Amino acid sequence: VAASEFDLIRRYFADATGTRADVALGVGDDCALLDVPAGQSLAVSMDSLVAGRHFLPADCPEGVGHKALAVNLSDLAAMGAHPAWTLLSLTLPQADEAWVEAFMQGFSRLANAFGVQLVGGDTTRGPLSITVQVSGFVDAPTALRRSGARPGDRLFVSGTLGDAALALRLRQAADVPAELAERLDRPMPRVALGRLLRGHADAAIDISDGLLADLHHVCEASGVGARVELNKLPLSGPVQAACRTGDWQLPLSGGDDYELLFSVPPTDAAELQQLCARAQQPVREIGEFTAGQGIVLIHPDGRETEGAPHGFDHFR
Ligand code: ADP
Ligand code: MG
Repeated sequence: VAASEFDLIRRYFADATGTRADVALGVGDDCALLDVPAGQSLAVSMDSLVAGRHFLPADCPEGVGHKALAVNLSDLAAMGAHPAWTLLSLTLPQADEAWVEAFMQGFSRLANAFGVQLVGGDTTRGPLSITVQVSGFVDAPTALRRSGARPGDRLFVSGTLGDAALALRLRQAADVPAELAERLDRPMPRVALGRLLRGHADAAIDISDGLLADLHHVCEASGVGARVELNKLPLSGPVQAACRTGDWQLPLSGGDDYELLFSVPPTDAAELQQLCARAQQPVREIGEFTAGQGIVLIHPDGRETEGAPHGFDHFR
């Protein structure tokens, strides 16, 4: 017998994640009731994953569950917010319990890792698609906005760039090495780094559409330009090999990195690097922000070209 909407809610969503003291009422009523700590702002964000667009219906549901939450937590990380609650809207072609169970394994494991509680959502029938909303707390004056970068600020990124895009490229033809597949299917949001950057970074964004596209967003919001030194980009071995042919597409516009890009005043850069090293957060300075506009790429041979942002746009 197929499960009903209410069976699914009771079995898979009602007690999926732990209980937080600030949840007065969770899944089961018309609304959840939540207590925001005094003096904090609520940071809220929402992202959808549509089958055939962001993932394939045949993809491992556990990975899809992880990623649906991870991309949202990455937005909280980019603001320096502390994650707290999540809402999950699932549209399913049928009540496929095995799929929902595996999806919720991936979703819940990540939620638990960050102390996030699932407090409600919606379950409907239709073409497979997933929408997740997250809420976190941040002291508004310390929140990391896109608009704070200033000329002379150092440009930093976390982790390595282009791995997810390389995994996607390889997946069409060959077996993908496990570490690369992990970067595509199970990105780990940089929540701890985002918290650490408050009070140090002038601006931040998470890299979801590719370095150039997201750097362009920061430049536009801040009214500045930027210079990026390609030989400073943090790259894994496989991506480095791909770039050696002169094709920088993977780290510059690959997308799906979910690393943080941020700007730091030059006087604070050394101290911040020490802080990150102590916290075991891998960060690398890759360039600087400039007066004016536009992104300049400095190639390994010294040549300079314009870095046109070719990020993903659903409507182009
Ligand atoms: P209503 O009809 O009042 O909107 P629903 O019947 O849709 O309520 O949902 C019943 C309860 O189950 C609500 O608390 C809702 O937040 C929760 N819920 C429904 N679907 C999900 C889901 N996919 N994940 C988490 N909670 C859910
Ligand atoms: Mg209702």
